[in-house]
Amino acid sequence: MDSKMISVAIDGPAGAGKSTIARKAAEALGYLYVDTGALYRAIGLHVLRAGKSTGSEDEIRSAMEGMSVELTHEEGVQHVYLNGEDVSGLIRTPEVSMAASDVSAKPAVRERLLELQRSLARTHHVIMDGRDIGTVVLPEATVKIYLTADAGVRAQRRYLELVEKGEAAEYESVLQDVIRRDENDMNRPIAPLRRADDAILVDTTNYNLEESIQLVINTVRAALAE
Ligand code: C5P
Repeated sequence: MDSKMISVAIDGPAGAGKSTIARKAAEALGYLYVDTGALYRAIGLHVLRAGKSTGSEDEIRSAMEGMSVELTHEEGVQHVYLNGEDVSGLIRTPEVSMAASDVSAKPAVRERLLELQRSLARTHHVIMDGRDIGTVVLPEATVKIYLTADAGVRAQRRYLELVEKGEAAEYESVLQDVIRRDENDMNRPIAPLRRADDAILVDTTNYNLEESIQLVINTVRAALAE
């Protein structure tokens, strides 16, 4: 990696607040925010739309033929394009979340997205959030953070987000989704979610969003100053 570029890897389980925290921290630090989950979500949506099984690597592979997935940053906001269509809003449903988790366990999907993620870090100072950024995508990242919180607290935050968006949600089913996604992400053989040996652990269970953002910014600044 180009040593002039600073990269901050933020990994952790679903609902730890990674996207919001990473986006705000990137704004404060003047880095490009890259939400890698959006890429897996776009592929999940594509496979669902194609009527293929999100659990079958062969079906996913055939659905991915001729598919294009791109990330752009427009006025500081990340957009994800699937076959030229801006699907940034469409990928934020519980159904697509689960499809993303399913397809992301397949090597063909991870290989497909690896270079795209690395090339962004070669050309920009980035804060990149995901599951395997510090372990696989950017093993030489300048700063690595593993962001987590208790599963019950993460489910509660997700639940409130859905309610605020006016969606019908039940806490119990959100909690079950969070637990199932964690299991999927942590137990897959390829690029499982785990804390890199050199990642700084940040647990936001007892902090609100503002405090968590500040904690991450302070952690990054302190690590860069070392
Ligand atoms: O972060 P987000 O919830 O948007 O990610 C959706 C899904 O994509 C995750 O549950 C995970 O399975 C997958 N993912 C991944 N590797 C990443 C980012 C996301 O496997 N770097």
